[in-house]
Amino acid sequence: MLETVDLAPRDAILGLTVAFNEDPRSEKVNLSVGVYQDEHGKTPTLGSVVEAENILAAGPSNKAYLPISGSPGYSEVVQELVFGPEYQTAGHLAGAHTPGGTGGLRVAADFLHANFPQATVWLSEPTWPNHPSVFAAAEVPTKTYPYFDQQTNSLAFEQMLAAIEKMPAGDVILLHGCCHNPTGIDPTAKEWQQIVQAVAKRGLLPFLDFAYQGFGDGLDEDAAGVREFRNAGGDLIVCSSFSKNFGLYRERVGALSIACATNDAATAVQSQINRAIRANYSNPPAHGAAIVETILRDQNLRETWEKELSAMRDRINGMRQQLVDSLEAKGVPGDYSFITRQRGMFSFSGLTKDQVEQLREQYAIYIVGSGRINVAGLTPANIDRVTEAIGAVVSK
Ligand code: PMP
Repeated sequence: MLETVDLAPRDAILGLTVAFNEDPRSEKVNLSVGVYQDEHGKTPTLGSVVEAENILAAGPSNKAYLPISGSPGYSEVVQELVFGPEYQTAGHLAGAHTPGGTGGLRVAADFLHANFPQATVWLSEPTWPNHPSVFAAAEVPTKTYPYFDQQTNSLAFEQMLAAIEKMPAGDVILLHGCCHNPTGIDPTAKEWQQIVQAVAKRGLLPFLDFAYQGFGDGLDEDAAGVREFRNAGGDLIVCSSFSKNFGLYRERVGALSIACATNDAATAVQSQINRAIRANYSNPPAHGAAIVETILRDQNLRETWEKELSAMRDRINGMRQQLVDSLEAKGVPGDYSFITRQRGMFSFSGLTKDQVEQLREQYAIYIVGSGRINVAGLTPANIDRVTEAIGAVVSK
């Protein structure tokens, strides 16, 4: 029977890393996968994480199951991080600790499918390529709304608002909380206000994918959109990932935080979330979430972590500036100043599929086909080679 199985296509982004690892050229540069790298091209384990692990290792071991929705203490510290210190007044909250942001997205998708089978989830065009896959796997229909203006390399705000105004009431709109993947373009505070008003007016359920809190401008600054929605007081789903901001990629740490209008609604939502989790992975792995909880509950560790997070953010924003300066210094045709206005690890560079292919084949520089560059893959050692190669392919 199994010989009838067709070969599945390689994951577009992770597949590129496989090709990168197989590439024998020593000068190769990987700007494709969404992983932070330091100035030496390494993905560091944060000092705060190592310290938290030491504290955990010195404490009693417990390998019994966690509750279905994970450690209750963890959900509380996550809600404070997401909604701010006044989170307890932020409404009636349901929540779950999930295996990564992807796990949270899938649980939310299963929850939507079971409870709102008629609802369509609206995704930005473009979006993280795994969004459509996760919702399709949960049999949730998706459609797209305009987000990116190719001419100006900025948010297609008017088109986005016009699309929201036409979405049917009862549908779900998925927004990136900050550091939009893949464009790096986020709404301004004023634009968030207008988005919140338009979403409330249409009777849509807002769903914020919040995978990069602290990677843009700061922990609170990056929560501007999430908190604008919370202050407006309606229902809200937030899916956090701690892969990037705590560097806990392989530990699979994420969370769902769901704000409801009443206590009864929060209890019912929690029960439905638990049901979705039970049938999926039953209950979450403990270690990564214990690290996050330990750091967030210890003032010294939290300060250390916030400093480490600022250092990652400053390095990325610094590389954005260096990228623009280096392209300019080499006389590469085009205005690349938009790169410094983008936030997070990614930049939509404007490179075409053909140019991306030439960079890979001729220069061993790996970029996703959409032209999305992981700015955190740039280092003082590789930036000149990268901008020289970009110059060569765009000048052709
Ligand atoms: N959402 C977005 C927009 C992402 O970019 C990512 C990670 N690439 C995720 C969710 C999922 O993160 P995790 O690795 O925690 O599953």
